[in-house]
Parts: sequence; C-alpha cells; structure tokens
Amino acid sequence: MGAMDSTELICHRCGALLHRGDGSFHVVRIEAFADPSPPEEEMESSGAATVESLLAEASSYSAQEFMDQVYRRLELRLCRRCYAAWIEDPTGSGVPGSGG
Ligand SMILES: [Zn+2]
Repeated sequence: MGAMDSTELICHRCGALLHRGDGSFHVVRIEAFADPSPPEEEMESSGAATVESLLAEASSYSAQEFMDQVYRRLELRLCRRCYAAWIEDPTGSGVPGSGG
C-alpha cells in the first residue's frame, strides 16, 4: 500500500498516472536525424574550406551537443486521450495527417 514503486509511469503530456498491462497508454518512439544526403556536387570546388568550417563549427560544440544536433531519439508515453490528440497532429502544424 502506497509503495513508492519506480515502475509507475506518467503520461509525458498531461501527467496522468499510467498502469502497465491494461493497454491504457501508448509508447511513442521518435527518431530524428540530420539530412543524411551527401553534399551537393557544386560544393566540391570549395570542399576544403567547407570541411574546415564544418570542423570549426563542430569543435564549438561538446561531443554530446554535436550528437544531439545530428541524432536524437526520444521515447514518450502518452495516455490514450493524449495519444489520440497527438497522433492527429504530430507536428503541431494543425494540419491533420493524410486522411481522406
Ligand atoms: Zn495524457
């Protein structure tokens, strides 16, 4: 009774208490990474300067900060109500996803 159980889960959006095993919440995994495309060919002429400027920029960040710029993974838990609202507008643009 009243055990401080660290396995208790909370909705990341509204703070509602979630319970494992009763299907009352969703887990949302977000994986975000910087544009993986290779640089445009036209940059080849100034390639050396570009690399130098990139290195200079990179050195201004800590390693962790730089990684956060390039790659980010999040895992959120949303209660059923919050999930239903979020999935309709995951980008917050107000434009519904591809519906009909
Ligand atoms: Zn919620």
